Amino acid sequence: SGTPAYYFPSVTSTNDVAKEYAKSMNRPLLVTSEYQTGGRGRRGRVWASCYAHNLMFTYAIPNFNASQGLGGLSLVVGITIAEVVRNKYKLDAKVKWPNDLLINYAKLAGILVEIQGDMDGLYTLLIGVGINVNEKPDIEDRAVTSLASELGTTLDRTALLAELVSALQENVKLFQDEGFIVFSERWDCLDAFKGMDVQLEQAGVITSGVACGVDDSGVLLLNVNGQMQQVHGGEVTLRLN
Ligand code: ATP
Repeated sequence: SGTPAYYFPSVTSTNDVAKEYAKSMNRPLLVTSEYQTGGRGRRGRVWASCYAHNLMFTYAIPNFNASQGLGGLSLVVGITIAEVVRNKYKLDAKVKWPNDLLINYAKLAGILVEIQGDMDGLYTLLIGVGINVNEKPDIEDRAVTSLASELGTTLDRTALLAELVSALQENVKLFQDEGFIVFSERWDCLDAFKGMDVQLEQAGVITSGVACGVDDSGVLLLNVNGQMQQVHGGEVTLRLN
């Protein structure tokens, strides 16, 4: 449907740039960049760029109606990417709550959903995505992967981007219309941690339990000594035990 797209060799972060562009737009737009000088994940963690090898983009939606809440949205984005990667490349992409994409427990992609408040429940929604397509950065203490290293061949980033954006458009609309509940089964099929012993770190406190998937609104269910706890998104990190 002709989403306006803005391409840059380098930006601070595609979310930052999209935030500015969205101020003067009343329809969705796309910002992509070959490099980010201030690429970030949650809590200001750094997202590593590999110049011109990977995909970093933000799909921004001005006037987003947030009546469904936003809790499940980063999960919907994860499902979208995982399904595209699985269908297109036949790779075993999985999701890790709330915002990671993994292949064999190595990190393939990250998601940073941000919102900018407006009046009357209208927001500008920024869906930031980084995917290691043709190169994986060296990250200390963490297994990372790229599509190219999984497949043994380099890939056309543009074709992948086009598919991701159109799948995102479809799924974000479905989420707005129906809420997370229509995605909960899809999440379940893709959940890398389901049934696994995990450690949850929240504000410096570590809780051990068994990951039991998510509820109908995307809240993580953690079985701690036989008691089911609900874990909401935000400042939470999950690790395999
Ligand atoms: P975690 O992934 O540990 O649960 P998080 O979800 O908060 O934490 P993000 O904010 O999604 O993590 O991403 C930042 C983290 O991802 C960094 O701390 C780093 O470990 C890792 N990382 C940074 N750049 C890349 C990259 N290009 N590919 C894979 N992993 C990366």
